[in-house]
Amino acid sequence: MNAQRAPRSPDAAQRNPGAAEKPGSDPVFPGPESVPRTVLDRRASGLLVIEWQDGSFSALPHAWLRARCRCAACAQAARSGAARPLAPVSLTGIRPVADQGLNLVFSDGHGRGIYPWTYLRTLGEEYAASPNH
Ligand SMILES: [Zn+2]
Repeated sequence: MNAQRAPRSPDAAQRNPGAAEKPGSDPVFPGPESVPRTVLDRRASGLLVIEWQDGSFSALPHAWLRARCRCAACAQAARSGAARPLAPVSLTGIRPVADQGLNLVFSDGHGRGIYPWTYLRTLGEEYAASPNH
């Protein structure tokens, strides 16, 4: 007498461990893990300090950030070859843009730049690797 067989479960063997996308190589859109734990404005030293979820830090000088603004006006100035010297500007406003990044306002009155978290992280690595500081 045959008992009825349990139905096969074809999905059980089809799990795909390790297929989860890893952040770091080519982030299309920052996920929650891209949102930093803390953002500190160290005004005395002119640094924006970001602590990321993995415990690493990015320390970004205000003027460095200003020179790397990617708003339409700054992008156009960069395309036209206008070199942007590091002006002695400081941050006067830091506004979160949903969970995507920061809108930074500088002491020269410029406040149109949106800095996505992934961009800030890249800038932090760039600055850390820069020999001139
Ligand atoms: Zn700009």
